Amino acid sequence: EALPIDKVDANFVRTVKNCIFSKSIPTPLKGPLRLTAASKDVIEGILDLDASVTRSGDFLHYASGGRLLPGSVPLAHRYGGHQFGYWAGQLGDGRAHFLGQYSNKKGEVWELQLKGSGKTPYSRSGDGRAVIRSSVREFLCSEAMHFLGVPTSRAASLIVSEEPVLRDQFYNGNVKAERGAVVLRLAKSWFRIGSLEILSQSGEINLLRKLLNFVIDEHFPFINPDNPEKYLVFFSTVVNETAHLIAQWMSVGFAHGVCNTDNFSLLSITIDYGPFGFMESYNPNFIPNTSDDEGRYSIGAQANVGLFNLEKLLVALIPVLTQTQQKQAKIILKGYANIYQMRVHQIFKAKLGLLGEDEDDNDLIAFLLKMMEDTESDFTMTFRELSEVSAKQLLNKNFTQMWALDDLSHHKHFSDWLNKYLFRLSRQQDDSDLDRQHRMKNVNPRYVLRNWMAESAIRKAERNDFSEVELLHHILSSPFVTQETAEEAGYAARPPQWARRLKVSCSS
Ligand code: AMP
Ligand code: MG
Ligand code: MG
Repeated sequence: EALPIDKVDANFVRTVKNCIFSKSIPTPLKGPLRLTAASKDVIEGILDLDASVTRSGDFLHYASGGRLLPGSVPLAHRYGGHQFGYWAGQLGDGRAHFLGQYSNKKGEVWELQLKGSGKTPYSRSGDGRAVIRSSVREFLCSEAMHFLGVPTSRAASLIVSEEPVLRDQFYNGNVKAERGAVVLRLAKSWFRIGSLEILSQSGEINLLRKLLNFVIDEHFPFINPDNPEKYLVFFSTVVNETAHLIAQWMSVGFAHGVCNTDNFSLLSITIDYGPFGFMESYNPNFIPNTSDDEGRYSIGAQANVGLFNLEKLLVALIPVLTQTQQKQAKIILKGYANIYQMRVHQIFKAKLGLLGEDEDDNDLIAFLLKMMEDTESDFTMTFRELSEVSAKQLLNKNFTQMWALDDLSHHKHFSDWLNKYLFRLSRQQDDSDLDRQHRMKNVNPRYVLRNWMAESAIRKAERNDFSEVELLHHILSSPFVTQETAEEAGYAARPPQWARRLKVSCSS
């Protein structure tokens, strides 16, 4: 509706019907504001700006919701979702504002969004704010994931304020005042499974079709809009890409933490960085979110949860599919497990430097993971050290300064596995040990955003020292390259004792 935007309280919290977006005005944060981190890669490479603009006072206001770019009509998106297995009804952007699209020099179109910019119609009981700790985590992790090669939303800047924001971090009644922050984040699209679910659940089928057509036109250009099977092709693509995304999460030991359907992108990119975690010692039951008592979103459950979410997507699509198409969609869904397994197989073969195909490859991978589980060896560093060690060193079990391999080598079947692995490598034609190491170093990161690293940076940030945020941002932009500053900081070393007691929850 074309109401004059300054004449209505666009932000009053309510149940919204028959729309995909609501106008909503960001609520400026209490100053002084401070730009504490910016991604040069995003500012220059996506937004076509000179990195120096981030130092201007204007940028502080535009990137935190204090001022709107000419022509920008900020919007909050209406979506629903299944949270922890149950339909939760209307959720929506409760603390995010969509500012508009930017078409860059490369011809890409990006959607700009503020997070932590105040209440919207979808804030429910929330305050519309985000605190420093969660904003630092979102800023660092989305950029880190990008440089790990995992499809993700991006972060342009992190602005902190003096505005007090009350949070009960571990839901134990200890409410503490923290400070508000805003991240300017970007994605090609912020639409989620829940974007379609709410329309379908509310019987708004014309809007459902409209949104689907829009998403297909904008983001699935290979689908012919006149194809009567287009929704089926769309579904099949999302099934495929979601399987690939989760396989990539597994390859870097990433547990999202809150895999609700409202946090699953239709473009199959990683969105919504909350209580995520990178697995340290290998454990399929690793649960990053302390509020997830039952481990519904443990790292090892993610593949199945992906399937659950895709089932919910299919349910949402039923009103626009014919009976035959519904049957076909169910068959497509049956293929998910296979697509996922194949992708995981390919990725882990690459992580081990294996070329070609051998019937025992699956066993070789599974055997290694089982040993990692038994010995609690570090997931990231075991693969990294395997990439850095020479075949000769491996043969001699010379693991000085290789702490993860040293842990692994205490397994009673380690020698068995090693012999199999070395034999498999030795039969690779047109391959040298150096080539193998080189290939493996490009897929096995040396640095991931471990919880303790984020926590250490956050503790300083809360005292207004953003040096470690900057250091991590810099290091995680080249996670496959050994860096002196990272080594000095212990980022590839055995995690410190205090890291074991760390907790992360949803309250952020
Ligand atoms: P999440 O678990 O982060 O995916 O959030 C689930 C829903 O809660 C989304 O609709 C969010 O916008 C909303 N939400 C989370 N935190 C807040 C907050 N502080 N204020 C308003 N809404 C929030
Ligand atoms: Mg969310
Ligand atoms: Mg969130």
